[in-house]
Amino acid sequence: MKIIVDTHTHTISSGHAYSTIQEMAEEAFAKNIEMIAITDHGPAMKGAPCLYHFGNLRVIPETIYNVRIIKGVEANIIDYDGNLDLPDGYLKRLDFVIASFHDICIEPAGIEEHTQAIINLMKNPFVDAVGHPGNPKFQVNIPQVVRAAKEYNKFIEINSHSFVVRPGSEENCREFALECKKQGVKVVCGSDAHISFDVGRFDRIYELFEDIEMPEELVMNTSTTDFCEYLRFKKEQFKRK
Ligand SMILES: [Zn+2]
Ligand SMILES: [Zn+2]
Repeated sequence: MKIIVDTHTHTISSGHAYSTIQEMAEEAFAKNIEMIAITDHGPAMKGAPCLYHFGNLRVIPETIYNVRIIKGVEANIIDYDGNLDLPDGYLKRLDFVIASFHDICIEPAGIEEHTQAIINLMKNPFVDAVGHPGNPKFQVNIPQVVRAAKEYNKFIEINSHSFVVRPGSEENCREFALECKKQGVKVVCGSDAHISFDVGRFDRIYELFEDIEMPEELVMNTSTTDFCEYLRFKKEQFKRK
């Protein structure tokens, strides 16, 4: 299995990340990563860019150093109804929307509240994936979240940064991957790089997938054709509405 799409990266615009889009693309090219999603943090996080940033992403070229740039966001879940910090009008214009819990934006509650918030946000047609759902600070009912992902056609993210910075994630990520395999739900793999050197860093994910014999067809990041097809399908869907 070779991961050639990195669906979760941050640039200097996030406020606590340190590379430009150009540097991220250059590193991706060097590592044979063919597509990267730029998913800077949503405006509810301190230091993150304001709404206008997300409204102007069209100025970024489609490809930089031969790397296709997917324009996205890592939106913050701001309440337990599953609301996000970007209005639908903005989300709609983005290629790829990840929704995540961050404890600096919302106080952790209980497993039921976390699970319900994620199920609710999955009903939002503009959301593509749930970011680092394996974070034990926001423990969820894993089989239930995966079932909802199947129902609403969302991806579950396996986040390689979590193995390092979110203690206890390893077990949860494993359970998520196993449950996705069992239920036939697709996953996306994100490096969650906050500096160019971490783009395309997936060592721990490779280990996990090898260990559980994750089927390649469930990993969206292994084919640019499949990924582009998904993005095209999503765009078409909204045009008709
Ligand atoms: Zn961050
Ligand atoms: Zn995050």
